[in-house]
Amino acid sequence: MDTVNQIWDQVLEYIRPKLSQIAFDIYIKCMEPKNIEDGEMVVTVRTDFLKTNIVELYSEMLLEALRVTLGIPLGLRIVSLETNVDDPGTVAALPIQGNGFPTTLADEEFTFENFVVGKQNNFAYAACQAVAEKPATLYNPLFIHGGSGLGKTHLLCAICKELQKKNPRARILYTKGETMTNELIEAIHNGTTAEFRAKYRQVDVLLVDDIQFIGGKAATQEEFFHTFDHLHSNGKQIVLTSDRPPREIATLEERLQSRFVMGLTADIQPPDLETRVAIIRRKAQMLDLPIPDDVAMYIANQLKSNVRQLEGVVKRMKAQYLLGGEQPGIMAAQNAIRDIRNDNQPVPITVERIITEVARTMNVNPEDIRSNKQSSPISKARQMAAYVVRTITNLPMKSIGEEFGGRDHTTIVYAIQQVEKKMDRDPAFRNMVNDIIKNISDS
Ligand code: ADP
Ligand code: MG
Repeated sequence: MDTVNQIWDQVLEYIRPKLSQIAFDIYIKCMEPKNIEDGEMVVTVRTDFLKTNIVELYSEMLLEALRVTLGIPLGLRIVSLETNVDDPGTVAALPIQGNGFPTTLADEEFTFENFVVGKQNNFAYAACQAVAEKPATLYNPLFIHGGSGLGKTHLLCAICKELQKKNPRARILYTKGETMTNELIEAIHNGTTAEFRAKYRQVDVLLVDDIQFIGGKAATQEEFFHTFDHLHSNGKQIVLTSDRPPREIATLEERLQSRFVMGLTADIQPPDLETRVAIIRRKAQMLDLPIPDDVAMYIANQLKSNVRQLEGVVKRMKAQYLLGGEQPGIMAAQNAIRDIRNDNQPVPITVERIITEVARTMNVNPEDIRSNKQSSPISKARQMAAYVVRTITNLPMKSIGEEFGGRDHTTIVYAIQQVEKKMDRDPAFRNMVNDIIKNISDS
């Protein structure tokens, strides 16, 4: 198998539709693939001029193409045949985000056609198609909920693409609950809430992914409530996703809960065996990887609850196939599954993340939580953060004290007791703490 050329051909195929013919002919076709070495694809070009331009204009696109083609990130070294050999001309691999695929890229694949429909998702799928077909007529809002990695973001992106295709002038806004919260906090801080409002109220379709993140955030909920009503009463479509149904987002205001369910609520459950096999087949077909039926069945029997993992296995097998010539058999599947399971060990939750989430919910500055300031909202947020840190990380009291501006461990013990007492007396407070813990653990 001519591995390097084969990979390079796929890279070219990936890039071709993204560039003008001229740019493609001048800058992309001129590169000659040589070999893969030290985690880098080495290519040559004739002149320094070409190299400089390619690095400047197309390195990101090339790295993306390599990553998509291989399913794993690979660096790129462009060597000019004009320059002396000391100049490596390396383009570093892009930093890997999350599951290793930048969202903009993954989006390309997030279409209705690429979504495998089974018993557990067909209702949600049909509802999304209906909304894309006729926005703001049938189901408004459409609320999709289901566990992580089951296709919620995929469906949301599919709606966006379909709408855009039908009506290129439609104003479609896709955002995440967390992003919206951060934007609002910033807008309040900078005195630009009018702009924030305008941005969200001027759209024809608003899609908010992972809306559960606004749980407990009073200011965001207040703002979103008005945005929702404004859009809804003006006949604009709203689509929301969440990892749980509205009534289980405990700290979601009653008025939002009732609005979220006034259109259509659709859930997605983990796919059954048949659907899992179909998904593996489809992903393999998209990557042009010949996975035998018994191997697809084997993978589907090993990984049951998360489509993202199924996809990860197929991508890894593809990389093993291209890089090492390993046939996509049971052995390759076993290796890939092992890697995916290791990769999916939960990322250790940092104190930083907890403080950020508590600060967002309690509407204080994260730095203040670590400081010595004693005003009542800040002390309360600090106590809450200490409790959450202890609950989630199980760090010793002494270390928690160090994280919170060098406080004594007895202070931390006291803080945690205060929170526990309040949770006993006050169900609303208890819900808030539990939602914070959920949001941190799920993100
Ligand atoms: P969620 O937003 O629910 O956590 P995503 O939409 O990000 O999940 O899906 C995770 C991955 O699994 C994506 O790459 C997506 O394309 C894929 N996926 C999920 N469900 C399906 C499906 N039914 N058919 C094809 N791909 C799917
Ligand atoms: Mg998602």
